[in-house]
Amino acid sequence: MPDIESTNPRTLGRAICIITGASKGFGRALAHKVSCLLEPGSVLVLVARSGTLLQGLKEELQSFTEELQLVVHCMAVDLSTTEGVNETVMLVRQEAENDIDHVLLINNAASLGNITQFASFTNPDEVNDYLSFNVSSALVLTAGILQVFQCRPELQRSVVNISSLFAQQALQSWVLYCTAKAARKMMFKVLAEEEPNVKVLSYSPGPMDTEMQQDIWRLTGVCHNLMPCQESAAKLMTLLLDNNFSSGAHIDFFDD
Ligand code: NAP
Repeated sequence: MPDIESTNPRTLGRAICIITGASKGFGRALAHKVSCLLEPGSVLVLVARSGTLLQGLKEELQSFTEELQLVVHCMAVDLSTTEGVNETVMLVRQEAENDIDHVLLINNAASLGNITQFASFTNPDEVNDYLSFNVSSALVLTAGILQVFQCRPELQRSVVNISSLFAQQALQSWVLYCTAKAARKMMFKVLAEEEPNVKVLSYSPGPMDTEMQQDIWRLTGVCHNLMPCQESAAKLMTLLLDNNFSSGAHIDFFDD
């Protein structure tokens, strides 16, 4: 069942919403929340590598939102590649002719990378591959989408960066993850400075029960107190609907 009541009068508008990393975890929970807040005729673009998982999600969403005439596209692409990013932008361009009043891009996809001591990163290819997916592809995808949807009256443009506590806090052995999240935070602050007509938010979702956390547990033996993804996704939706944050802000799930 949809978890945001249909009586909620607030919506994200007649929107095109692109969610990266939508096949699992937090991205999947976001797809559920967002789809309940879209107006009829909206378009949802779900991006991840696993086409089977995306297709399953599309069927779930369409069974809940039949009356919305929601168009759902599954983009089974690898965002660590130029082709994956370009194909996603091309698909969005095809939808740009639709009469929409909001474009919402949620840069959620990310990877954990190798969790090990700084001094062991002697292979530049490993570091470059990590940063290419976790930093560069989010920049290039966002730039591509903003080029498709240039500033025009009556069009709201919102960009969300899914961040982490580790964008701001250093942690031993987490050099790749911390570096990428810190770089993304700054990258999206620059976007907010440059583009006053784009509403930019970096959102740190808190510790959630996902495959990424299972990997953390397997690799480090550290087990956090985890919340369901839906809880943090609901907070992000409230932030977007209230729209009270300053563009470029970094907001944590635990912030008031
Ligand atoms: P997750 O369970 O590992 O899911 C990651 C998502 O990204 C999956 O849908 C995965 O789908 C997709 N993805 C991974 N590599 C990809 C690639 N090369 N191309 C396209 N898609 C790719 O992670 P999560 O825990 O939901 O994390 C979501 C976001 O929240 C991340 O930015 C993470 O850093 C952040 N975050 C998570 C936590 C937490 O506690 N879980 C805490 C703070 C921040 P495919 O495998 O199908 O490609």
